[in-house]
Amino acid sequence: MDPAKPIGFGPQFNVHVVGDRELLLLSEQRSFRLVGKLYVALVPFLDGKHTGEEIISAFAGRIAPDRLRQVLTDLLAKSYAHYLDKAAPAARQALWVELDLPPAEAERNLSNRSLAVIAATEQGPAGDGARLLREAALDSGIPLQDADQATIAVVSVDDYLRADLKEVNARMRRQGRAWMPFKAGGGMPMLGPLFRPAAAPCWQCLATAMIENRPGDAVISRQNDAARPTRSFTTASLRLAANFAALEIARTLGQSAPSTLERHVLALDLKTRSASEHFVRAQSDCPVCGAPHDPLAVLARGKAPLRLQSRPVSPEVDGGWRSLTAAEVVQRLGCHVSPVSGLISGLQDLSLGDGLPVFTARQVGPVAIDVRANRLVGKPGGAAGKGMSETSTFPTGVNAAMWPKVGSYA
Ligand SMILES: [Zn+2]
Repeated sequence: MDPAKPIGFGPQFNVHVVGDRELLLLSEQRSFRLVGKLYVALVPFLDGKHTGEEIISAFAGRIAPDRLRQVLTDLLAKSYAHYLDKAAPAARQALWVELDLPPAEAERNLSNRSLAVIAATEQGPAGDGARLLREAALDSGIPLQDADQATIAVVSVDDYLRADLKEVNARMRRQGRAWMPFKAGGGMPMLGPLFRPAAAPCWQCLATAMIENRPGDAVISRQNDAARPTRSFTTASLRLAANFAALEIARTLGQSAPSTLERHVLALDLKTRSASEHFVRAQSDCPVCGAPHDPLAVLARGKAPLRLQSRPVSPEVDGGWRSLTAAEVVQRLGCHVSPVSGLISGLQDLSLGDGLPVFTARQVGPVAIDVRANRLVGKPGGAAGKGMSETSTFPTGVNAAMWPKVGSYA
Protein backbone atom coordinates (compact mmCIF):
# COMPACT_ATOMS: atom_id res chain seq x y z
CA MET A 1 0.00 0.00 0.00
CA ASP A 2 1.18 3.51 -0.79
CA PRO A 3 0.19 5.49 2.35
CA ALA A 4 0.57 8.85 0.61
CA LYS A 5 -2.25 8.27 -1.89
CA PRO A 6 -5.96 8.92 -1.27
CA ILE A 7 -7.95 5.69 -0.90
CA GLY A 8 -11.67 5.04 -1.11
CA PHE A 9 -14.19 2.30 -1.51
CA GLY A 10 -14.68 1.59 -5.21
CA PRO A 11 -16.74 4.58 -6.38
CA GLN A 12 -18.96 2.19 -8.36
CA PHE A 13 -20.25 0.74 -5.07
CA ASN A 14 -23.29 1.83 -3.14
CA VAL A 15 -22.09 1.42 0.43
CA HIS A 16 -24.78 0.20 2.85
CA VAL A 17 -24.19 -0.14 6.59
CA VAL A 18 -26.31 -2.93 8.08
CA GLY A 19 -26.37 -2.87 11.89
CA ASP A 20 -23.13 -1.98 13.64
CA ARG A 21 -20.86 -4.64 12.20
CA GLU A 22 -21.86 -5.34 8.62
CA LEU A 23 -21.21 -3.58 5.34
CA LEU A 24 -22.68 -4.26 1.91
CA LEU A 25 -20.88 -3.03 -1.21
CA LEU A 26 -23.35 -3.16 -4.09
CA SER A 27 -22.60 -2.19 -7.68
CA GLU A 28 -24.53 -2.80 -10.90
CA GLN A 29 -23.28 -6.35 -11.21
CA ARG A 30 -21.41 -7.22 -8.03
CA SER A 31 -22.19 -7.44 -4.34
CA PHE A 32 -19.84 -8.00 -1.43
CA ARG A 33 -20.44 -8.34 2.30
CA LEU A 34 -17.82 -7.24 4.82
CA VAL A 35 -18.33 -8.21 8.46
CA GLY A 36 -16.57 -6.40 11.31
CA LYS A 37 -16.97 -3.22 13.31
CA LEU A 38 -13.73 -1.85 11.82
CA TYR A 39 -15.19 -1.84 8.30
CA VAL A 40 -18.19 0.14 9.52
CA ALA A 41 -15.91 2.58 11.36
CA LEU A 42 -13.83 3.05 8.19
CA VAL A 43 -16.79 4.12 6.00
CA PRO A 44 -16.53 7.91 6.61
CA PHE A 45 -12.79 7.78 5.89
CA LEU A 46 -12.83 5.66 2.75
CA ASP A 47 -14.35 8.40 0.61
CA GLY A 48 -11.36 8.98 -1.66
CA LYS A 49 -10.41 12.19 0.12
CA HIS A 50 -8.15 10.65 2.81
CA THR A 51 -4.75 9.09 2.31
CA GLY A 52 -3.80 5.81 3.97
CA GLU A 53 -1.53 7.76 6.30
CA GLU A 54 -4.35 10.08 7.38
CA ILE A 55 -6.68 7.16 8.03
CA ILE A 56 -4.05 5.35 10.12
CA SER A 57 -3.41 8.46 12.21
CA ALA A 58 -7.18 9.07 12.66
CA PHE A 59 -7.40 5.64 14.32
CA ALA A 60 -4.22 6.14 16.42
CA GLY A 61 -4.63 4.71 19.91
CA ARG A 62 -7.64 2.60 18.87
CA ILE A 63 -6.29 0.37 16.08
CA ALA A 64 -2.67 -0.68 15.77
CA PRO A 65 -1.14 0.94 12.65
CA ASP A 66 0.18 -2.39 11.33
CA ARG A 67 -3.22 -4.02 11.58
CA LEU A 68 -4.98 -1.12 9.87
CA ARG A 69 -2.33 -1.00 7.16
CA GLN A 70 -2.98 -4.70 6.53
CA VAL A 71 -6.76 -4.16 6.39
CA LEU A 72 -6.36 -1.34 3.85
CA THR A 73 -3.90 -3.42 1.83
CA ASP A 74 -6.41 -6.30 1.72
CA LEU A 75 -9.25 -3.97 0.66
CA LEU A 76 -7.07 -2.71 -2.19
CA ALA A 77 -5.96 -6.23 -3.18
CA LYS A 78 -9.57 -7.40 -3.40
CA SER A 79 -10.58 -4.26 -5.36
CA TYR A 80 -13.11 -3.30 -2.67
CA ALA A 81 -11.06 -0.09 -2.38
CA HIS A 82 -8.95 1.81 -4.92
CA TYR A 83 -6.51 4.65 -5.04
CA LEU A 84 -8.61 7.60 -6.13
CA ASP A 85 -8.06 11.06 -7.52
CA LYS A 86 -9.32 13.69 -5.05
CA ALA A 87 -10.24 16.20 -7.73
CA ALA A 88 -11.74 14.03 -10.48
CA PRO A 89 -15.48 13.30 -10.62
CA ALA A 90 -16.42 10.16 -8.67
CA ALA A 91 -18.80 8.97 -11.40
CA ARG A 92 -16.03 9.07 -14.01
CA GLN A 93 -13.66 7.18 -11.72
CA ALA A 94 -16.42 4.62 -11.10
CA LEU A 95 -16.65 4.15 -14.87
CA TRP A 96 -12.88 3.51 -15.11
CA VAL A 97 -13.29 0.79 -12.46
CA GLU A 98 -16.11 -0.78 -14.50
CA LEU A 99 -13.78 -0.71 -17.54
CA ASP A 100 -11.01 -2.42 -15.49
CA LEU A 101 -8.81 0.67 -15.32
CA PRO A 102 -7.22 1.75 -12.01
CA PRO A 103 -9.05 5.07 -11.48
CA ALA A 104 -6.27 7.27 -10.06
CA GLU A 105 -3.81 6.00 -12.67
CA ALA A 106 -6.35 6.57 -15.47
CA GLU A 107 -6.96 10.13 -14.27
CA ARG A 108 -3.23 10.82 -14.04
CA ASN A 109 -2.62 9.43 -17.54
CA LEU A 110 -5.54 11.43 -18.94
CA SER A 111 -4.35 14.69 -17.44
CA ASN A 112 -0.85 14.15 -18.86
CA ARG A 113 -2.07 13.30 -22.36
CA SER A 114 -4.11 15.18 -24.89
CA LEU A 115 -6.08 14.99 -28.10
CA ALA A 116 -6.34 17.06 -31.27
CA VAL A 117 -9.32 16.62 -33.58
CA ILE A 118 -8.88 17.60 -37.22
CA ALA A 119 -11.53 17.38 -39.93
CA ALA A 120 -10.33 16.00 -43.28
CA THR A 121 -13.05 18.20 -44.76
CA GLU A 122 -15.37 20.61 -43.00
CA GLN A 123 -18.18 19.51 -45.31
CA GLY A 124 -20.81 17.01 -44.24
CA PRO A 125 -20.44 14.37 -41.55
CA ALA A 126 -16.64 14.69 -41.33
CA GLY A 127 -16.91 18.31 -40.19
CA ASP A 128 -19.85 17.63 -37.88
CA GLY A 129 -18.13 14.49 -36.55
CA ALA A 130 -15.03 16.51 -35.62
CA ARG A 131 -17.09 19.14 -33.80
CA LEU A 132 -19.13 16.54 -31.91
CA LEU A 133 -16.00 14.55 -31.01
CA ARG A 134 -14.37 17.65 -29.51
CA GLU A 135 -17.45 18.19 -27.34
CA ALA A 136 -17.60 14.53 -26.31
CA ALA A 137 -13.85 14.48 -25.56
CA LEU A 138 -14.14 17.41 -23.17
CA ASP A 139 -17.13 15.75 -21.50
CA SER A 140 -15.01 12.61 -21.05
CA GLY A 141 -12.15 14.45 -19.35
CA ILE A 142 -9.79 14.39 -22.34
CA PRO A 143 -7.68 17.55 -22.61
CA LEU A 144 -7.82 19.11 -26.11
CA GLN A 145 -4.64 20.48 -27.58
CA ASP A 146 -3.30 21.91 -30.83
CA ALA A 147 -2.49 19.29 -33.46
CA ASP A 148 1.27 19.84 -33.22
CA GLN A 149 1.34 19.27 -29.47
CA ALA A 150 -1.32 16.64 -28.80
CA THR A 151 -0.44 13.08 -27.77
CA ILE A 152 -2.68 11.80 -30.55
CA ALA A 153 -4.51 13.45 -33.40
CA VAL A 154 -7.82 12.16 -34.68
CA VAL A 155 -8.67 12.91 -38.30
CA SER A 156 -12.44 12.94 -38.85
CA VAL A 157 -13.27 11.57 -42.30
CA ASP A 158 -16.29 10.81 -44.44
CA ASP A 159 -14.47 7.73 -45.78
CA TYR A 160 -11.38 5.84 -44.61
CA LEU A 161 -10.14 5.73 -48.21
CA ARG A 162 -10.08 9.46 -48.90
CA ALA A 163 -7.19 9.92 -51.31
CA ASP A 164 -5.80 12.87 -49.33
CA LEU A 165 -5.18 10.63 -46.29
CA LYS A 166 -2.09 9.42 -48.14
CA GLU A 167 -0.56 12.86 -47.62
CA VAL A 168 -1.85 13.01 -44.03
CA ASN A 169 -0.17 9.65 -43.38
CA ALA A 170 3.14 10.86 -44.82
CA ARG A 171 2.98 14.18 -42.93
CA MET A 172 2.17 12.59 -39.58
CA ARG A 173 5.05 10.14 -39.93
CA ARG A 174 7.41 12.95 -40.99
CA GLN A 175 6.37 15.04 -38.00
CA GLY A 176 6.56 12.10 -35.57
CA ARG A 177 2.89 12.28 -34.60
CA ALA A 178 0.51 9.46 -33.67
CA TRP A 179 -2.89 9.67 -35.32
CA MET A 180 -6.03 7.74 -36.10
CA PRO A 181 -8.96 8.10 -38.47
CA PHE A 182 -12.54 8.45 -37.24
CA LYS A 183 -15.68 8.11 -39.35
CA ALA A 184 -18.79 9.35 -37.57
CA GLY A 185 -21.24 8.85 -40.43
CA GLY A 186 -22.81 5.77 -41.95
CA GLY A 187 -24.40 2.64 -40.61
CA MET A 188 -21.00 1.52 -39.34
CA PRO A 189 -19.05 4.35 -37.68
CA MET A 190 -15.38 3.49 -37.18
CA LEU A 191 -12.40 4.58 -35.12
CA GLY A 192 -8.71 3.68 -35.37
CA PRO A 193 -6.33 2.09 -35.59
CA LEU A 194 -3.81 4.27 -33.81
CA PHE A 195 -0.95 4.76 -36.25
CA ARG A 196 2.44 5.25 -34.60
CA PRO A 197 4.84 7.44 -36.61
CA ALA A 198 7.83 5.12 -36.56
CA ALA A 199 5.97 1.81 -36.63
CA ALA A 200 3.82 -0.42 -38.78
CA PRO A 201 1.03 -0.69 -39.77
CA CYS A 202 0.34 2.71 -41.31
CA TRP A 203 -2.70 4.10 -43.11
CA GLN A 204 -1.36 2.77 -46.42
CA CYS A 205 -1.34 -0.77 -44.96
CA LEU A 206 -4.95 -0.34 -43.89
CA ALA A 207 -5.93 1.19 -47.23
CA THR A 208 -4.38 -1.76 -49.10
CA ALA A 209 -6.38 -4.22 -46.98
CA MET A 210 -9.56 -2.15 -47.21
CA ILE A 211 -9.49 -1.72 -50.95
CA GLU A 212 -9.19 -5.47 -51.38
CA ASN A 213 -12.56 -5.59 -49.69
CA ARG A 214 -13.86 -2.66 -51.76
CA PRO A 215 -12.57 -3.46 -55.26
CA GLY A 216 -15.18 -1.24 -56.93
CA ASP A 217 -13.28 1.85 -55.68
CA ALA A 218 -10.34 1.14 -57.98
CA VAL A 219 -12.52 1.57 -61.05
CA ILE A 220 -13.21 5.21 -60.20
CA SER A 221 -10.55 7.85 -60.67
CA ARG A 222 -10.48 10.47 -57.96
CA GLN A 223 -8.21 13.22 -56.72
CA ASN A 224 -8.37 14.17 -53.06
CA ASP A 225 -11.79 12.98 -52.11
CA ALA A 226 -13.43 9.65 -51.45
CA ALA A 227 -15.11 7.15 -53.76
CA ARG A 228 -17.88 6.48 -51.26
CA PRO A 229 -18.22 9.22 -48.67
CA THR A 230 -20.90 8.17 -46.24
CA ARG A 231 -24.34 9.53 -47.07
CA SER A 232 -26.34 8.04 -44.21
CA PHE A 233 -26.53 9.78 -40.84
CA THR A 234 -28.59 11.86 -38.49
CA THR A 235 -27.24 14.33 -35.98
CA ALA A 236 -28.11 11.73 -33.35
CA SER A 237 -26.15 8.96 -35.11
CA LEU A 238 -23.14 11.26 -35.50
CA ARG A 239 -23.37 12.15 -31.83
CA LEU A 240 -23.60 8.47 -30.88
CA ALA A 241 -20.47 7.74 -32.93
CA ALA A 242 -18.63 10.73 -31.43
CA ASN A 243 -19.52 9.66 -27.88
CA PHE A 244 -18.44 6.08 -28.60
CA ALA A 245 -15.16 7.37 -30.03
CA ALA A 246 -14.57 9.72 -27.09
CA LEU A 247 -15.02 6.89 -24.62
CA GLU A 248 -12.60 4.66 -26.53
CA ILE A 249 -10.06 7.49 -26.82
CA ALA A 250 -10.38 8.18 -23.09
CA ARG A 251 -9.80 4.50 -22.42
CA THR A 252 -6.76 4.48 -24.72
CA LEU A 253 -5.25 7.62 -23.17
CA GLY A 254 -6.20 6.55 -19.64
CA GLN A 255 -4.67 3.10 -19.65
CA SER A 256 -0.99 2.38 -19.22
CA ALA A 257 -1.06 -0.87 -21.23
CA PRO A 258 -1.24 -0.86 -25.05
CA SER A 259 -4.76 -0.30 -26.35
CA THR A 260 -6.83 -2.49 -28.66
CA LEU A 261 -6.81 0.54 -30.96
CA GLU A 262 -3.08 0.05 -31.61
CA ARG A 263 -3.83 -2.74 -34.11
CA HIS A 264 -7.59 -2.66 -34.67
CA VAL A 265 -10.33 -0.62 -36.25
CA LEU A 266 -13.24 -0.43 -33.81
CA ALA A 267 -16.60 -0.43 -35.57
CA LEU A 268 -20.04 0.27 -34.21
CA ASP A 269 -22.69 -1.55 -36.24
CA LEU A 270 -25.88 0.45 -35.90
CA LYS A 271 -27.89 -2.21 -37.72
CA THR A 272 -27.07 -5.02 -35.32
CA ARG A 273 -26.43 -2.77 -32.31
CA SER A 274 -23.02 -4.33 -31.81
CA ALA A 275 -19.36 -3.34 -31.75
CA SER A 276 -16.53 -5.23 -33.45
CA GLU A 277 -12.74 -5.16 -33.72
CA HIS A 278 -10.99 -5.51 -37.09
CA PHE A 279 -7.33 -6.47 -37.05
CA VAL A 280 -5.04 -4.37 -39.26
CA ARG A 281 -1.97 -6.23 -40.38
CA ALA A 282 1.29 -4.55 -41.33
CA GLN A 283 1.96 -5.11 -45.04
CA SER A 284 5.57 -6.21 -45.25
CA ASP A 285 5.99 -4.59 -48.68
CA CYS A 286 4.11 -1.37 -47.76
CA PRO A 287 5.77 1.51 -49.69
CA VAL A 288 5.46 3.75 -46.61
CA CYS A 289 6.27 1.63 -43.56
CA GLY A 290 7.49 -1.69 -44.98
CA ALA A 291 10.66 -2.93 -46.58
CA PRO A 292 11.00 -2.05 -50.28
CA HIS A 293 9.70 -4.77 -52.57
CA ASP A 294 12.59 -7.01 -53.53
CA PRO A 295 11.53 -9.42 -56.31
CA LEU A 296 14.81 -11.34 -56.13
CA ALA A 297 14.39 -11.98 -52.40
CA VAL A 298 10.80 -13.10 -52.97
CA LEU A 299 11.99 -15.42 -55.73
CA ALA A 300 14.75 -16.82 -53.53
CA ARG A 301 12.24 -17.51 -50.75
CA GLY A 302 9.91 -19.16 -53.23
CA LYS A 303 12.71 -21.39 -54.55
CA ALA A 304 13.90 -22.45 -51.12
CA PRO A 305 13.24 -26.14 -50.57
CA LEU A 306 10.31 -27.05 -48.39
CA ARG A 307 11.52 -28.27 -45.02
CA LEU A 308 9.27 -30.77 -43.31
CA GLN A 309 9.20 -30.95 -39.54
CA SER A 310 7.78 -33.62 -37.32
CA ARG A 311 4.98 -32.41 -35.03
CA PRO A 312 2.82 -34.36 -32.60
CA VAL A 313 -0.66 -35.14 -33.90
CA SER A 314 -3.42 -33.31 -32.07
CA PRO A 315 -5.50 -35.54 -29.80
CA GLU A 316 -8.59 -33.92 -31.35
CA VAL A 317 -9.15 -36.54 -34.03
CA ASP A 318 -12.05 -35.54 -36.29
CA GLY A 319 -10.83 -37.85 -39.02
CA GLY A 320 -7.55 -36.05 -39.70
CA TRP A 321 -3.86 -35.79 -38.88
CA ARG A 322 -3.65 -32.27 -37.57
CA SER A 323 -1.00 -30.65 -35.38
CA LEU A 324 -3.35 -27.90 -34.15
CA THR A 325 -6.86 -28.18 -32.81
CA ALA A 326 -9.68 -26.47 -34.69
CA ALA A 327 -9.99 -23.95 -31.84
CA GLU A 328 -6.27 -23.10 -32.09
CA VAL A 329 -6.56 -22.50 -35.83
CA VAL A 330 -9.55 -20.22 -35.29
CA GLN A 331 -7.60 -18.29 -32.66
CA ARG A 332 -4.59 -17.86 -34.98
CA LEU A 333 -6.39 -17.08 -38.21
CA GLY A 334 -9.78 -15.73 -37.09
CA CYS A 335 -8.40 -12.17 -36.92
CA HIS A 336 -7.87 -12.26 -40.71
CA VAL A 337 -11.60 -12.64 -41.35
CA SER A 338 -13.10 -9.16 -41.55
CA PRO A 339 -15.23 -7.30 -44.11
CA VAL A 340 -13.27 -4.15 -43.23
CA SER A 341 -9.60 -5.12 -43.19
CA GLY A 342 -9.35 -8.89 -43.51
CA LEU A 343 -7.49 -11.11 -45.94
CA ILE A 344 -10.83 -12.88 -46.11
CA SER A 345 -13.84 -10.62 -46.06
CA GLY A 346 -16.18 -13.12 -44.52
CA LEU A 347 -17.28 -16.68 -44.05
CA GLN A 348 -20.73 -17.88 -44.94
CA ASP A 349 -22.41 -20.90 -43.47
CA LEU A 350 -23.68 -22.81 -46.53
CA SER A 351 -24.29 -26.07 -44.73
CA LEU A 352 -26.38 -28.45 -46.78
CA GLY A 353 -28.15 -29.81 -43.75
CA ASP A 354 -27.64 -31.25 -40.29
CA GLY A 355 -24.30 -33.03 -40.17
CA LEU A 356 -23.12 -31.55 -43.49
CA PRO A 357 -21.39 -28.33 -42.44
CA VAL A 358 -19.86 -26.25 -45.25
CA PHE A 359 -18.39 -22.76 -44.94
CA THR A 360 -17.43 -20.64 -47.91
CA ALA A 361 -15.06 -17.70 -47.75
CA ARG A 362 -15.38 -14.46 -49.68
CA GLN A 363 -12.00 -13.20 -50.76
CA VAL A 364 -10.01 -11.29 -53.29
CA GLY A 365 -7.13 -13.03 -55.10
CA PRO A 366 -3.76 -11.70 -53.88
CA VAL A 367 -2.16 -11.36 -57.27
CA ALA A 368 0.41 -8.55 -57.31
CA ILE A 369 -1.56 -6.47 -59.81
CA ASP A 370 -4.22 -3.91 -59.06
CA VAL A 371 -7.61 -5.04 -57.83
CA ARG A 372 -9.41 -3.88 -60.95
CA ALA A 373 -7.16 -6.08 -63.04
CA ASN A 374 -7.76 -8.85 -60.52
CA ARG A 375 -11.47 -8.57 -61.16
CA LEU A 376 -10.93 -8.53 -64.91
CA VAL A 377 -8.94 -11.74 -64.79
CA GLY A 378 -11.55 -13.25 -62.53
CA LYS A 379 -9.35 -13.46 -59.46
CA PRO A 380 -11.83 -12.41 -56.79
CA GLY A 381 -12.96 -15.78 -55.76
CA GLY A 382 -13.97 -17.99 -52.96
CA ALA A 383 -12.90 -21.04 -51.06
CA ALA A 384 -14.86 -23.53 -49.10
CA GLY A 385 -14.22 -25.95 -46.29
CA LYS A 386 -16.13 -28.96 -45.11
CA GLY A 387 -15.80 -30.97 -41.94
CA MET A 388 -17.37 -33.19 -39.38
CA SER A 389 -18.71 -30.37 -37.22
CA GLU A 390 -19.18 -26.61 -37.35
CA THR A 391 -16.18 -26.09 -35.08
CA SER A 392 -13.85 -28.02 -37.35
CA THR A 393 -15.36 -26.66 -40.57
CA PHE A 394 -14.80 -22.98 -39.78
CA PRO A 395 -10.97 -23.32 -39.67
CA THR A 396 -11.05 -25.54 -42.76
CA GLY A 397 -12.78 -22.75 -44.66
CA VAL A 398 -10.34 -20.16 -43.33
CA ASN A 399 -7.37 -22.34 -44.20
CA ALA A 400 -8.65 -22.95 -47.71
CA ALA A 401 -9.12 -19.23 -48.22
CA MET A 402 -5.75 -18.34 -46.72
CA TRP A 403 -3.76 -20.82 -48.75
CA PRO A 404 -3.50 -18.88 -52.06
CA LYS A 405 -2.64 -15.70 -50.15
CA VAL A 406 0.09 -17.35 -48.15
CA GLY A 407 1.33 -18.90 -51.38
CA SER A 408 1.62 -15.48 -53.00
CA TYR A 409 2.98 -13.50 -50.12
CA ALA A 410 5.15 -15.93 -48.19
ZN1 LIG B 1 2.28 0.76 -44.10
